[in-house]
Amino acid sequence: MPESIVPPDSNVPQLDPEDWESFRGLARQMMDDVVDHLASVGQRPAWQPLPDDVREALREPVPREAHGAEATYRVFRERVLPYSNGNTHPRFWGWVQGSGLPIAVLADLLASGMNPHLAGLNQAPRFVEEQVVAWIAELMDFPKTSSGLLCSGGSMAGILALAVARHARAGFDVREQGLQGAEHPTLTLYGSRETHSWATKAVELLGLGRRSLRLIDVDDAYRVRVDALRQAIADDRRAGRRPFCVIGTAGTVNTGATDDLEALADLCAEEQLWFHVDGAFGAWARIAPALRPMVRGIERADSLALDLHKWMYLPFESACLLVRDADAHRAAFATSAPYLGAGERGVSAGGFPLADRGVELTRSFKALKIWMALKTHGVEAFADMIEQNVGQARLLVEQIEGHAELQLLAPAPLNVVCFRYVAHGSSEREHHALNQELLLRVQESGFAVPSSTWIGERFALRVAIVNHRTRAADIRQFVERVVGLGRALSAGPKIPNTQD
Ligand SMILES: *Cc1c(COP(=O)(O)O)cnc(C)c1O
Repeated sequence: MPESIVPPDSNVPQLDPEDWESFRGLARQMMDDVVDHLASVGQRPAWQPLPDDVREALREPVPREAHGAEATYRVFRERVLPYSNGNTHPRFWGWVQGSGLPIAVLADLLASGMNPHLAGLNQAPRFVEEQVVAWIAELMDFPKTSSGLLCSGGSMAGILALAVARHARAGFDVREQGLQGAEHPTLTLYGSRETHSWATKAVELLGLGRRSLRLIDVDDAYRVRVDALRQAIADDRRAGRRPFCVIGTAGTVNTGATDDLEALADLCAEEQLWFHVDGAFGAWARIAPALRPMVRGIERADSLALDLHKWMYLPFESACLLVRDADAHRAAFATSAPYLGAGERGVSAGGFPLADRGVELTRSFKALKIWMALKTHGVEAFADMIEQNVGQARLLVEQIEGHAELQLLAPAPLNVVCFRYVAHGSSEREHHALNQELLLRVQESGFAVPSSTWIGERFALRVAIVNHRTRAADIRQFVERVVGLGRALSAGPKIPNTQD
């Protein structure tokens, strides 16, 4: 032992609180502050820029000496807490970012306090996760025998799903042989042009390459053209390539469109292809009686990726992968190692089954917040809230259609609305500049946070409502604000187009 090592039981600072009672005081303070923060979220700006001095102050040397918990917490409250991207606010509708349920905040505290290791093992949390996955499978009408795993997000769920599909349908042992070398036919897979960018990351990461992902044209409703898909598969087969998977989307990120999942399921059955559905947010239409028909066919998928941190309003990160064939799921990831044996009894009884369903070994107790939120509120409350969000999107569409200066840019079948302000006699380029500026001013005013996208050649303001705090009045006020800003901007001097 080197001479300088700290001897056992010497008088070094402890990492647990020296005084649990004063820790309890700080804990209560934090809890009060979090509750106040949540209860007053609508009274603050949806977003505010991070002041330069605050950003500067966040750049600090490594804290080699102790600052203490109280002082550290004060810094957090001052410099971090007020400056988030705003998705807990009732008028945040950017990208697809859920609003976060208070009960889940407490669940995350409990989960961290308990700090179990979720690779499996003989412990209640493992069964809580398995129960949560089984509930989600039931809600999606997947068979009882299906498998699943909680993961960080829809992207990770999709990447894992394609890894399972690749292993199950490559026609050779991908895990053993990899994809290097020319002895195998090129594997190809399919999605629509509207497929989310996670799929590109997935094919790059899985060694399939971007060329393997065929992005098929969509119809006027932004759904994949099944005839074109069928043709692309036939062309690839004729050229000696090996189609193995079709990705359907329930709720595209751009416009909320849902592919004809029944038709895709039929096609995959005929062609013997793996059918994956990306239902990051749209899958949850399944639990709402009025929306359920839109995602008909989702229950026929071989794998389904869905987020809980979007349209189930849970805090980040929480998503779920479902795989119909439990053996195929396990076969894609299971490994063994001498230090990971399963015992007959004791802590290791049951082994590490959750580590065998994905790439992570150490996993957190994400299941608890889902379990607590579902039990606290009941599934019907979520179904109602989802329908209410769709109702709010329809209200926004009505308001847009009732306004000569606003233009809807794509059908809005679900909770995503793409539109713009139109100034009479303006060119496309001028519309882009005006709406870009309008978007930034709405955000910078702190009033609301929409995001943007392109619908073909048109720059769109994009509102995606996965927010349990939004009310109809928020939508109406937002429309007034957009029209007011649009008028002010189009009356003022021309806005330089930043893309020029
Ligand atoms: C958000 C989204 C994803 C990615 O999910 P993350 O949870 O952000 O990783 C994938 N597909 C669609 C349709 C999405 O909306």
